[in-house]
Amino acid sequence: MKTCERCFVDLEETCTQCPCCGEPIIDPEVAAVNRKHQSIRILSTILKIFAVIVLLGSIYYAIGSKGIQTLYMVGGGIFGLVLLWTLAEMEKVFIDTEENTHYILAAKKKGSTKG
Ligand SMILES: [Zn+2]
Repeated sequence: MKTCERCFVDLEETCTQCPCCGEPIIDPEVAAVNRKHQSIRILSTILKIFAVIVLLGSIYYAIGSKGIQTLYMVGGGIFGLVLLWTLAEMEKVFIDTEENTHYILAAKKKGSTKG
């Protein structure tokens, strides 16, 4: 049984919006997963910001350096960008995997109570 989070009215299982207050009804398991992953999403964004800062920093110092050092600076900056960006994207993959698992488990649970 679902309950409206705002006015605590009992709702139908298939209900997507509260008939009393109009509050959209989200599956409680999905809502819990969303809350849990909010901090990981923020960290992922911070990692991407750092990735860009690393590249910009390396370009800044590459301008001031000469010869092979310029190549090292830019190369290191691109390497840092790719590495941090990959880490940030991998967090998304982990989140997607866990969300999929939750959806599958929820679907299985609903299926078993039907019959
Ligand atoms: Zn309501």
